[in-house]
Amino acid sequence: MDPIPCACCDTFFIPRNKRQQFCSKPACQRARKALWQKQKLATDPEYRKGQRLANQKWLANNPDYWKKYRKRNPEKAYRNRALQRIRNQREQPDKAIGIAKIDVRKACNQSLLGKFWLVPTIAKMDPIKIFITTAPGCSS
Ligand SMILES: [Zn+2]
Repeated sequence: MDPIPCACCDTFFIPRNKRQQFCSKPACQRARKALWQKQKLATDPEYRKGQRLANQKWLANNPDYWKKYRKRNPEKAYRNRALQRIRNQREQPDKAIGIAKIDVRKACNQSLLGKFWLVPTIAKMDPIKIFITTAPGCSS
């Protein structure tokens, strides 16, 4: 069989059969399994119900997992809180974040400098991190 690019890492490998799309690297196999589970959760209500029960049981046995997780990963906790705030605002359309045209000369406001998450509100995409810095010639 001819080598094909891995669907995860794009490295060429020789598949064992026509259906194989991922190479055997552990990271690629994890990605394959995650994709399988994502599709299974989306299409199989019984599987989704079983996973939900298993997750609830696990969480009951590990009640402070998320508290410790947030303590271990403060940046992720901050990001998740910011994204949740945006999701909450989406549920209140009168308070939704819109697109505003701001005169850059008047926008020399230091409070807008820093790290932000750019969250698409129309297409379903992952948020991206952006950095806002001072524009040249902008004196405050
Ligand atoms: Zn791979």
